[in-house]
Amino acid sequence: MSTEVHDCIVIGAGIQGSSTAYHLAQNKQKTLLLEQFVLPHSRGSSHGQTRIIRKAYEEDFYTKMMHESYELWAQLEREAGVQLFRRTGLLVMGPENEEGFSNIKATLQKNEVPTVLLERKEFSQHIPNVNLTDGNGALVDTTAGVLYADRSLRAIQGLYQNKGGVIKDGEKVIDIKPGAVVTVTTESGVYRGRSLVITAGPWANTLLTRAGLELPLKVVKINVCYWKEKIPGTYSVSHRFPCFVQYNPKEAEIYGLPSNEYPGLMKVSGRRCGIDVRAR
Ligand SMILES: Cc1cc2nc3c(=O)[nH]c(=O)nc-3n(C[C@H](O)[C@H](O)[C@H](O)COP(=O)(O)OP(=O)(O)OC[C@H]3O[C@@H](n4cnc5c(N)ncnc54)[C@H](O)[C@@H]3O)c2cc1C
Repeated sequence: MSTEVHDCIVIGAGIQGSSTAYHLAQNKQKTLLLEQFVLPHSRGSSHGQTRIIRKAYEEDFYTKMMHESYELWAQLEREAGVQLFRRTGLLVMGPENEEGFSNIKATLQKNEVPTVLLERKEFSQHIPNVNLTDGNGALVDTTAGVLYADRSLRAIQGLYQNKGGVIKDGEKVIDIKPGAVVTVTTESGVYRGRSLVITAGPWANTLLTRAGLELPLKVVKINVCYWKEKIPGTYSVSHRFPCFVQYNPKEAEIYGLPSNEYPGLMKVSGRRCGIDVRAR
């Protein structure tokens, strides 16, 4: 075992762990980031080309957090010198008189987020190719857009290393010994740190158990589908088609992103209970 003691060891180089390590290194903390797979990999939650970023949340505290989050993403873009965000807006649709939709509307208004409320009669003029279900309202969070996920991971990990941070990938953590100085054992080494951050995503409980903690976490598989546009380009970013979410209080929410990474194919998925949208 090396005698070196890190200020912090971070386990898991997904977006959470990589961002944490980057901010630690920025704050002059000697940091070690451990990842079980060889990077880049596609076996966690952070891979793929795109993710939605938005201020439209039911919960006020998320919308408040997002103000800072947008600033941090912009800072990162400047530092990395690559585009990580593309503004598209987010079309939110849902039953007008149910909680989900009306909470989002209230949160956006309360936090003065630039929002367009769409009346039924003008809906198709603004959003052609989408039908607004009877009884549903619609609004657009104009601040929302797409984050380029893989590119963001690469950028953050690169900047972290430029600041002196160390990544050891292909090193699965197999044991954690808590203490004033925590000892972390991987399949090929033993490391010591004054503090430890576990950002292991779906593997969190396996590691937390080793640290003597157990949380009621449940891993949910999410299916991502790509739907073919009937008329190529209709639902693309270049046609200014937005990201969208359809709230269904009794079922899962369906959300999607304009075609971008795979021309002619729109990304569609379901949230909340990890439904298989192909089955619907
Ligand atoms: C299909 C899909 C669509 C999504 N869409 C959106 C969206 O549009 N907008 C949005 O905001 N969010 C979205 N999310 C959520 C977002 O992507 C996740 O919240 C985020 O990627 C989680 O990152 P993470 O770092 O916590 O986990 P992960 O990316 O899973 O990273 C955990 C890392 O820990 C490593 N690890 C685990 N155990 C060990 C070990 N023993 N030793 C070493 N390393 C270990 C893993 O290998 C992995 O690399 C989506 C998620 C999915 C899956």
